[in-house]
Amino acid sequence: MLEIEFKGRVSENFTGLYKASYGDGYILTTHLEAIQARKVFPCLDHPAYKAVFRLTVRTDQDLKVISNMPVEAEKFDAGKKTVVFQETPKMSTYLFYLGVGKFVEDQNRHGRTLLYAAHARPKGSIKTEFSFEAAQKVLDHYESYFGIPYQLPKLHQIAVPEFAYGAMENWGAITYREILLHVDKDTSVRAKKAVAGVIAHEIAHMWFGDLVTMKWWDDIWLNESFATFMGHKAVDHAYPQWKVWQDFVRTQTSGAMGRDGLRNTHPIEAHVKDPEEIEELFDEISYGKGASILRMIEAYIGAEQFRKGVSKYLQQFRYSNASGHDLWNHLQEASGTNVNQIMEAWISKPGFPIVTAKLSNNKLLLEQERFLLAGGIEKQTWPIPVTVTLDGKQQKLLFDKEKAEVDIGSGAKFLKLNVDQTGFYVVHYDGDEIQRLVWNSKLSPLDKWGLVSDAKALLLSGHMSPKQYLTLLERYQNETEYLPAFEVSDQLELLYVLAPGKLKDTSRRFHQVQLKTLQAKNDENSRLLKGIVAGRLTLLDDTYAAEQASKFEDLGSVKPDMKRATVMGYARSSNDYDGLIGHFKKSTTDEERLRYLEGLTSFKKPELVARALEFSLSGQVKKQDIRNVVSYATANADAKQVTWEWFKANIEKLNKMYEGTAQLSTIMRAFISIVGAGRVEEAETLFKHHPLPAAQATLERLRIYDRLAESITAVS
Ligand SMILES: [Zn+2]
Repeated sequence: MLEIEFKGRVSENFTGLYKASYGDGYILTTHLEAIQARKVFPCLDHPAYKAVFRLTVRTDQDLKVISNMPVEAEKFDAGKKTVVFQETPKMSTYLFYLGVGKFVEDQNRHGRTLLYAAHARPKGSIKTEFSFEAAQKVLDHYESYFGIPYQLPKLHQIAVPEFAYGAMENWGAITYREILLHVDKDTSVRAKKAVAGVIAHEIAHMWFGDLVTMKWWDDIWLNESFATFMGHKAVDHAYPQWKVWQDFVRTQTSGAMGRDGLRNTHPIEAHVKDPEEIEELFDEISYGKGASILRMIEAYIGAEQFRKGVSKYLQQFRYSNASGHDLWNHLQEASGTNVNQIMEAWISKPGFPIVTAKLSNNKLLLEQERFLLAGGIEKQTWPIPVTVTLDGKQQKLLFDKEKAEVDIGSGAKFLKLNVDQTGFYVVHYDGDEIQRLVWNSKLSPLDKWGLVSDAKALLLSGHMSPKQYLTLLERYQNETEYLPAFEVSDQLELLYVLAPGKLKDTSRRFHQVQLKTLQAKNDENSRLLKGIVAGRLTLLDDTYAAEQASKFEDLGSVKPDMKRATVMGYARSSNDYDGLIGHFKKSTTDEERLRYLEGLTSFKKPELVARALEFSLSGQVKKQDIRNVVSYATANADAKQVTWEWFKANIEKLNKMYEGTAQLSTIMRAFISIVGAGRVEEAETLFKHHPLPAAQATLERLRIYDRLAESITAVS
């Protein structure tokens, strides 16, 4: 037996065993992924070296201790207590958990499994009923889908007051941001969907990641993309009314394409040599692209074959490690198709294809090359599982060369490629005749989304002129479906910020029409979208903002999804900075706090937004929420300059604050690329002096937006 004595320090940032503060108190909590376990105890900190852990903790008597396994014994002596935990099964170091603090616990169960929800706030202030319900529903789904029961005697879901990530799948002791466990009568549909989505994602990891673990961080994407994909399956099963596959394409697929269309992207399967590189891999490629590729391969081989392959894979590698290839082998065996060849190509190459489709003599001509947001051509081929719907009948082909032809006979009336957008590629319909067939088709909401989502990609890359694009948008003016309407709203929000002078009227008109359409509906998705549309309208329409502001005094009676529009409208009409700060400070839930922060960044007067941005760094806003603050400020076209100036002045502070995580990279790529448009040279100089990991990708996107802003402004 080898005994090692060691001492460590509690960390002040978000990793290792760290202090997560709330009000006057704090809890100690661990976040060990990817390589922080070594900071907490000496170990072979490598996912493939699984070990059994036996933990004993000595602490003050009034504190609770939580770990992966249930408590075996507690002893009290000399004012202290010693907590001994049951031995864990064989597991990887990065999944170890230790939490110490004044936790409040609620209890429930799922079959033989004890379920706990723990948080550090006064009893009852974090409402965990819904989190139990969601956990029970997704556990049901996974146990039957995988054919393997949940393996540990208990499952904790722990709300952590300060957390860099959304959640973390420590085996049997999942940690979450507080906002992701709390649901009450004032919770918006949007927040509730996020709660269910994250719970389903993390619980999927209990099998995929925890029971079967990747051999090395090269396969981190498989971990994340699988949990993302399965999480949507589970939520779709538990809450079918939400139609979460529609949210999947709009956020995961589209987000991944936005990233992967840059030259500054990386293959799904990255070669990790230096562990420091791992953090940067927790990005849209590892989650969204990977999950979209899994959805594509499932559609290609069939849902039941996919399930069988996954289940056999988990059976074979339980309590050990595996790589992507092992999964492909099982999927291949279960389906009798060439999964290996397809997956290898998609995960090893950066980028994705654009398929140009033309009609000629009763034939559909297809051509593929790499899609680049910056424009230009790069000859490349992928094995694309292409689907075509032709007059209501579906055809499949594996398009793995530069060109292909499909016989469509004469007199075709409707046609569309990439049916229900299961494929990870952009389609460019080249020619009036083919476009007529496409728009004549009876399009599903997913297909309608696909056409306008591809249109944005074609606009950004210069395949479509701003004029053509705006004409296409007209088709969506009276859209009544949730997904395409949401997408157009997103696109107009971005374009309005990039070219406010040009697009204010277009965007205002669209949002006004949408609001009217949505007034008549009351399903959850419509309520969610109505909240989004109303919020955006307050930034575009002063009369509407004032109308919303008039409800501010009685915010308690405003419907949950509409509250943010009321707060934003109040900010736009009142300029009441101190009042909103006061409300922020009095807020008791994260959702409420975020709502006031959104108000504080929605002022018409840029100098007030500048004050709010400063306030976000004063220590009174959770560090984890600064990303939201930047996103809110970015959506406010009036605040573009002050947001840029704030970022410039605080770039090093932010870098230090998010050290060891990739949070700043995400902020830069997503938002700084927008507020920086119009300041290309200034941005180049800034990133020359601060060569941060995401600098090149941010600059590339910033230049693309800059070019688009100019070309839109030039439209007559
Ligand atoms: Zn995950």
